Amino acid sequence: MTRKLIRNGRFFTPIDEGSPLAGDRQGRVASWLNGAMVVCDGVIERIGTESEIMSDMNSSRFDEVVDCGGNCVIPGFVDSHTHMCFSGRREAEFGLRLKGASYLDILKAGGGILSSVQGVRKISAEQLMQATFVMAVSAFRLGTTTLEIKSGYGLNIETELKMLSAIDGVRRQTSQDIVATFMGAHAVPEEFRNSADDYVKLIIHDMIPAVVGQGIARYCDVFCEQGVFSISQSRRILTAAQEAGLGLKIHADEVHDLGGAALAAEMRAVSAEHLLAAGDSGIASLATAGTIAVLLPGTAYSLQKPYARARYMIAAGVPVAIATDCNPGSSFTESMPFIFGLSVMNMGMTPEEALTAATLNAAYAIGMADRVGSFDKGKQADFLILDGESPAILAYHAGVSPVIAIYKKGKALEIG
Ligand SMILES: [Zn+2]
Repeated sequence: MTRKLIRNGRFFTPIDEGSPLAGDRQGRVASWLNGAMVVCDGVIERIGTESEIMSDMNSSRFDEVVDCGGNCVIPGFVDSHTHMCFSGRREAEFGLRLKGASYLDILKAGGGILSSVQGVRKISAEQLMQATFVMAVSAFRLGTTTLEIKSGYGLNIETELKMLSAIDGVRRQTSQDIVATFMGAHAVPEEFRNSADDYVKLIIHDMIPAVVGQGIARYCDVFCEQGVFSISQSRRILTAAQEAGLGLKIHADEVHDLGGAALAAEMRAVSAEHLLAAGDSGIASLATAGTIAVLLPGTAYSLQKPYARARYMIAAGVPVAIATDCNPGSSFTESMPFIFGLSVMNMGMTPEEALTAATLNAAYAIGMADRVGSFDKGKQADFLILDGESPAILAYHAGVSPVIAIYKKGKALEIG
């Protein structure tokens, strides 16, 4: 047994009460300004003020002492929405968008997601795993200790399974926790351009059983959007996924308010993602169902769109998480510090609300809250030391990462 003392830190954490934090609770963060944490075999044993802990425990009982230098300490980031399993960037397309081409125009012309599909279909599983590993490690250095990665650049059985096995390969190579999501319904592939319903049937009758047989994916996600998958197609896919035992997520109301948020609530999906265009009634249905809104401000930044209405959602009682949406098209960032900054500066969230959104609520959005997302006794000791006094440093010191040390299960990541 190895016991570590993490001392001389200003600890900030949401408190896990057994469900995602919504409304006023989203911004209620516990803090110990002269704090310490006891970690036993990588698991949090105790957190409190340093004087309290030292009065009960003899310092000789610790195998190692980590001095946080009076800096802020927060739980490791949980990035609950990424597409970082891809090959090839789309820098030229970014240039076109800066000249005024819309995201859906680019998709219609065979660019966007479909150009990533060509790249991913071409390369080997090993090359894809290596490319994804590079992205995951980069995110780790920016403080992401747990993340979700979606498939969805395969759009046929063979390549979707290849993506999921590449994601699983990354999971085995890194000490980050990685949750895989099957997203065969990310776009309609070229071969089915005029017969989207046949592609929906392929997903339901062939892909979902194959994915469940493979045993890697825990969730199924659908891009419910004009020109992609309709509400009724999305409902059919999600129903089949649910019956097969997968958890549900929906890319909802990103460009148009199609009713994706209401569908997420109706299907009891764990989360509805994006929601840039979500209307009041969709938001009300998320609050009633307790569905987590996963907001992706990197997408609004990259597509130069208005941001999701985080303040309205929090006031309506929807639990909000934030994530990178890391992908080569509409949000090319793996930086949770950047996303935190956008959430505070451009979505009007308080630093405390953003902290809950980037840790505990995000952990709930990928079924990991029993292990990560807060400094509660019994959870993994995943924590970050920031070069600052409070989580606000993540918005205040812009354009850099204030993350100066990263610990996963109590073990330091060497930042080289
Ligand atoms: Zn996405």
